Amino acid sequence: MTILTPSASEDATAASASFGELPLSAAMQANLKQLGYLAMTPIQAASLPIALAGHDLIAQAKTGSGKTVAFSLALLARLNPRSFAVQALILCPTRELADQVTQEIRRLARADDNIKILSLCGGAPMRPQMNSLEHGAHIVVGTPGRIMDHLDRGSLDLAALNTLVLDEADRMLDMGFFDDIVRVAKSCPKERQTLLFSATYPTGIADLSSRFLRQPQEVKLLEKHEDTKIRQRFYEVTREGRFEAVGLLLNHFRPLSTIAFCNTRQQCRDLLAYLQKQGFHALTLHGELDQRERDQVLVQFANRSCSVLVATDVAARGLDIAQLEAVINVDITFEPEVHVHRIGRTGRVDQQGWAFSLAVPGEMARVKAVEDLHRFEAEWHSLDELVPQGSGVMLPPMVTLQLLGGRKEKIRPGDVLGALTNDAGYTREQIGKINVTENSTYVAVDRKIAQEALRKLNAGKVKGKKVKAYFLHERM
Ligand code: ADP
Ligand code: MG
Repeated sequence: MTILTPSASEDATAASASFGELPLSAAMQANLKQLGYLAMTPIQAASLPIALAGHDLIAQAKTGSGKTVAFSLALLARLNPRSFAVQALILCPTRELADQVTQEIRRLARADDNIKILSLCGGAPMRPQMNSLEHGAHIVVGTPGRIMDHLDRGSLDLAALNTLVLDEADRMLDMGFFDDIVRVAKSCPKERQTLLFSATYPTGIADLSSRFLRQPQEVKLLEKHEDTKIRQRFYEVTREGRFEAVGLLLNHFRPLSTIAFCNTRQQCRDLLAYLQKQGFHALTLHGELDQRERDQVLVQFANRSCSVLVATDVAARGLDIAQLEAVINVDITFEPEVHVHRIGRTGRVDQQGWAFSLAVPGEMARVKAVEDLHRFEAEWHSLDELVPQGSGVMLPPMVTLQLLGGRKEKIRPGDVLGALTNDAGYTREQIGKINVTENSTYVAVDRKIAQEALRKLNAGKVKGKKVKAYFLHERM
């Protein structure tokens, strides 16, 4: 097994940083440059040579370390675009993660526009998926339950498969997919490569791998966040004062985007109610949301029209949210390993981030466990240092407008951008992220122009047609 300690991984970055050393096509090398992937991340540097050589692999590294690119390059290298059969299958725990993986593979495969990638996840009707499968696909990304459904109905044929990827394997085990995964693996040809990626290494992983990986090589990236990138501070709070402390932190540091981690769903609900009452723009991800509602929460958080996402570990794991200024551990986690996964959400790639942890006296043993496991000493600060900055409660810089009409109506981001910049006369800088889903389009606009932009959109046209636009937060 290769274990990369943090210092060894820095060496790895320094020594074998470039994708240029990998046996990848010239077109792929050029595409990687265009995508801004100039150097390999440590997990990519450690796992790609093994995966490209055709070995089975178990790779463990924290969220945000670039695992998707690692397995995608391996499976794309082996793909034959002229053979119109499913050659790679990637199992992911949730639809969101499957969508993220699909998008990343699309970006990586864009040099070759003949490669067809299908996402097959639960919560969507079967029929259209079966139709798409009839038209053929090279790569399938999906959730284990739905993939099983297709296998049972005979709509998915894996006879030509040569790469099976288990992404976020730990999370799939958490969600009870063990048997489904085993059954899917049994439906794959014996002669294949299996790549298993995981953020943590619970015992179930060893079980899985002994069932159907063949002499896997293991790569493990031990985590230690550099102090310079994540600034950690601990605060002692009282049980009654915990939520107030969250508000104090937000008003003092005024981070544009924060994830507040709670240990239970009840705590999430209570904190959300508290923050909203204080005037913060906060949202939560929880099990009772349907898929459309989850999408809407994530869209608003990612486009900076929601300041705080309140979540449990299960709800937030694996989400790739760039540009997070702060993480707040509202409760100290029961599992010290989880602490690092939580705070690893902030300070990614070349950004600095804050990680705040709140502890009541009864949680000190858990703080100690975190310190011991990660070999650092908690830096304690007093709540008295926190004084509200700026004027009034913190507001997110953007507001999300929802347009009825999306991919089905053939709306593209450029159409909405055009309506707002050419027709309505706004600058590119006043418009934020634009997300087009099946039936809706979400566009973030500068808070200062939100009212007027909404009026102009409703009075004008997008793609030559009248549209209906709303403030998304008013419809949630
Ligand atoms: P993981 O699956 O390990 O949680 P992801 O694959 O989602 O991580 O990658 C996290 C982010 O890092 C993504 O936005 C991805 O585009 C970016 N990324 C991946 N590889 C590189 C690289 N070599 N250089 C720069 N950014 C990268
Ligand atoms: Mg991932």
